[in-house]
Amino acid sequence: MNKNKELAELLFGHITKQPEYYEEKYPKRGLPEGAAVTRIGPSPTGFVHLGNLYNAIIGERLAHQSGGTFFLRIEDTDAKREVEGAAQLVISAMDFFGIRFDEGATADSDNGEYGPYRQRLRKEIYQCYAKKLVEEGMAYPCFCTEDELAAMREEQMSKKLNFGYYGEWAKCRDLSFDEIKAKIENGEPYVLRFRSQGDEKNHVEVFDGIRGTLKVSENYQDFVLLKSDGIPTYHFAHVIDDHLMRTTHVVRGEEWLATLPIHIQLFDTLGFERPIYCHTAVLMKMDGGTKRKLSKRKDPELGLDYYRKEGYAPRAVWEYLLTVLNSNFEEWRAANPDAPIDDFKFTLEKMSNSGALFDIMKFEDVSREVLLRTPASEIYDEFAEWLREYDPEFCEIFTRDREYSEKILDVGRHAARPRKDLTSWKQARQFLSFYFPETFEIEDAYPERVSESDRKEIFRRYLDTFDMGDDSSEWFQKIRDITADLGYAVKPKDFKKNPDMYKGSVSDVSAAIRVALTGRTNSPDLWEICQIIGEDEMRARIERA
Ligand code: GLU
Repeated sequence: MNKNKELAELLFGHITKQPEYYEEKYPKRGLPEGAAVTRIGPSPTGFVHLGNLYNAIIGERLAHQSGGTFFLRIEDTDAKREVEGAAQLVISAMDFFGIRFDEGATADSDNGEYGPYRQRLRKEIYQCYAKKLVEEGMAYPCFCTEDELAAMREEQMSKKLNFGYYGEWAKCRDLSFDEIKAKIENGEPYVLRFRSQGDEKNHVEVFDGIRGTLKVSENYQDFVLLKSDGIPTYHFAHVIDDHLMRTTHVVRGEEWLATLPIHIQLFDTLGFERPIYCHTAVLMKMDGGTKRKLSKRKDPELGLDYYRKEGYAPRAVWEYLLTVLNSNFEEWRAANPDAPIDDFKFTLEKMSNSGALFDIMKFEDVSREVLLRTPASEIYDEFAEWLREYDPEFCEIFTRDREYSEKILDVGRHAARPRKDLTSWKQARQFLSFYFPETFEIEDAYPERVSESDRKEIFRRYLDTFDMGDDSSEWFQKIRDITADLGYAVKPKDFKKNPDMYKGSVSDVSAAIRVALTGRTNSPDLWEICQIIGEDEMRARIERA
């Protein structure tokens, strides 16, 4: 038996299958030409972030626009970072945003022909390919301890050399079979390293679906394939999994660009067809005039649960991310305001590869637009569902009279220049509070230019002349009359021109009424509010004021 084969048996005697077995078990997918197979591969850390969703949207669109397959793989090779129930967390977070997987990990099992979809359950598969690499002389066990590696690093640093395990530094590279055998019999732990034939000075071309053709240096490091517990590193697991799961497009964050040479080298060495890599830009935000990465510690908006808790409509987040992802999305939306979002044709070509800017103000604008396009009856349902979970008390009030609540959701939305009052459910909860007696309160101050006695006089006359049957202009004419009678300017610009001749203007007079009726200096149309809350409530509020 040749030495490599002998070594392979020594290390992986328990592996009896051949790679061919898996190649057959997971055949090329019978999908139509051009259909994309994509995935997300989150680590089960318990934190699902915006980047996960961002990449998921790209993968989902590529697959589902082309009649392909989109799946979920749980990358749990790092047991230390794992949190219980994390897979379920990912699934429900994605589900909330309308991201559906065709196959992959489920809460506690699997769905699909290409599984298992949890990396730790695939140990035997990785080891089968690792065995093949050892047989071919392309991998070897390394017994260097943490301390030895640290000392090596120190020395490399002092000599100003590249860090890592390569060339003359790769001490275990040339251990003889007998040396290895002795160490193993001695119970020494080891990792399995790739025997790189690469040279830093060589360049390799890699096609990236977002960035175009990249030129990267060849990998020359003997990187780790399997850790001492036989579990693969990300690099090895990625290559084996995306090959066997027949992924066509690997959509992942740009933090993986640095190790791309390793992945390419593995694909090529193993004789696998390379996937199309799509490295997405890191999500950035503006912070005091400078761009920086979104941070888990500083920016709550990085966590996906933020959107659920704040009560943003999931499709608003999706819609906003599409504006960030594809430069032509906004234009498309302007031309097709009512089209379902899936009608938009997402393309990799329209993606920018410089840092993607997440602008929360812009996001809120998009959210307001999205809610404006949503019929009141749908808003009612979504809002009520959110309230049930986050504010049951207000939920009871809000759902007492569906007709009434739908009416208040619609205030000002059908005007020529429609109001965009609603941004999120949390904000809506605050915004709509004045429509209900239980939650109405005076929040803002009365206008300064109106004295207390004038205010009383305004309210008295307002009640005297108020007639529910008045239309909006008749109603306003009465306010104008009160304004003039009490020595305020009917036209605000007259007051501006001659501030000494008036106590104030019609805006002060209506502001006094507005605060009394809504508790705020800023609100939708007062006449409409009177129509909605009804005469009794209107009179009660003014009288109390
Ligand atoms: N587990 C990797 C991560 O969370 C996935 C990268 C990939 O999609 O290949 O970054």
